[in-house]
Amino acid sequence: MNFDEQRVQMVEQQLRARGLRDERMLAAFRRVPRHLFVPEMVQLQAYEDRPLPIGEGQTISQPYMVALMTSSLCLQGHERVLEIGTGCGYQTAILAEMALEVYSVERLAILSGKGREILERLGYLNVHLSAGDGSLGWPDHEPYDAVLVSASTPRIPPPLLEQLADPGRMVLPIGPRDSQTLVEVHRRNRVVRQKEITRCVFVPLLGQYGWPEDISNLT
Ligand code: SAH
Repeated sequence: MNFDEQRVQMVEQQLRARGLRDERMLAAFRRVPRHLFVPEMVQLQAYEDRPLPIGEGQTISQPYMVALMTSSLCLQGHERVLEIGTGCGYQTAILAEMALEVYSVERLAILSGKGREILERLGYLNVHLSAGDGSLGWPDHEPYDAVLVSASTPRIPPPLLEQLADPGRMVLPIGPRDSQTLVEVHRRNRVVRQKEITRCVFVPLLGQYGWPEDISNLT
């Protein structure tokens, strides 16, 4: 099976079959060439039902997890989205397909640079990348209609909540280092509500409002 065929199969078997039915989102997953975002060494596994290493000790999430997080933002197309943890840029591309503008912050300059390369090559003009501590958000462009954090944090970083619009939605993995809960946060009429979606395991958000930077030396 070639990559295009594998991608169609990924959408049907891993996403639609598990209850994700938003056709706009499924179309985005059919369009974005996931295999171009992962290192060559794991390219043949790009459409498998699991996370993969992307270098620098980081991982690209399983397609279903990317889809679950995306779907909880309920994107219509007019939103300005903040993403924390660009990684290889795959989730960024999915967001760029579904929203108006995407602002994405990555702590590791080397990953941010690689992400920029592929996102530019694929022609995404509505993606804006920055290298730095995303636990501080990206105050220059706030407020954001939606915020997606793809690294785990002990609690919601206050700057991210401050930069979230009203109404606005955020999705992020919250909990201890080894296992977290994916949480959906809704703000409407100044009221903030949280809903637990599922258990999950993400790499840590390292920064001022995440885990201390030297935690990676402890594992
Ligand atoms: N969505 C990414 C997932 C990458 S893993 C993808 O599809 O590839 C999570 C990423 O969060 C890692 O690249 C890690 O370097 C990054 N990260 C960790 N702490 C961060 C912080 N404080 N600010 C921004 N990015 C951070």
